[in-house]
Amino acid sequence: MKKIFALVAIMVLVMASFGNVDAQGKKVKQATETVEACMPIIGISAAESSPASAPATYVNAVKRAGGVPVIIPMTSDKAQLEAVLEIVDGVIMTGGEDIDPLKGYNEEPLRALGEIVPERDKFDLMLIRMAVAKGLPVLGICRGEQLMNVAFGGSLYQDIPSQVKTSYIKHRQEAPRNYGTHSIEITEGSLMHKMLGVNKIAVNSYHHQAVKDVAPGFKVTAVSPDGIVEAIEKVDSDCVWGVQFHPEGFVSMGDDSFLGIFKHLVNKAAEKK
Ligand code: MN
Repeated sequence: MKKIFALVAIMVLVMASFGNVDAQGKKVKQATETVEACMPIIGISAAESSPASAPATYVNAVKRAGGVPVIIPMTSDKAQLEAVLEIVDGVIMTGGEDIDPLKGYNEEPLRALGEIVPERDKFDLMLIRMAVAKGLPVLGICRGEQLMNVAFGGSLYQDIPSQVKTSYIKHRQEAPRNYGTHSIEITEGSLMHKMLGVNKIAVNSYHHQAVKDVAPGFKVTAVSPDGIVEAIEKVDSDCVWGVQFHPEGFVSMGDDSFLGIFKHLVNKAAEKK
């Protein structure tokens, strides 16, 4: 019932916005038809220091895949999150700061650990566990992928350069966000393989942490040539997965190489409506 109200509200908003921009009856009709096709609503976890915003790259990527993006503001109130999860059909956990290793996976912090934000950890962990328990499609990106692993019992390398002696690849690129600097190998038959349709692809890379012990019930589905985990997915699901790179950096700039990742999320979200 709540979804119907939300849908009606969005329909009114869309019609109103089209009405403002262009009063032609034809435009309004097109907008109405699109909404009638049930565009799935994708919740994007608040990502930046301001607790109610996320970079426009995530928003644009969801739009390009045919979804309706909404930001989920940071909160510690479980009831608020329950209400939000009644409205959204899928969730993206965004990139950002390091995760507190002591609270997250019972490890003392190493000197090379970056900034941690306890309030955000709490919010993110609650949100992802509730969304997965509800059966919603969930895509974790960068920190979001690491968080997915931690939320379900896995651990992280707190700092690749000082902890993983066999790693030789630059995982903190100094290049545009829509430019892939290192390759990944994708497991055949995995979700990643289905979404991207290739065994190997160049990705962007902005991380110094990575998945160490994979959470029970999850598997690794892509690695970089130096053995760093670049994607995981939940074994008994076809819509809970995470990537260590930033596909939205490509998609928001009009590069379709990684659009399949967001299309899959939006398609699965449409099934949940
Ligand atoms: Mn990388």
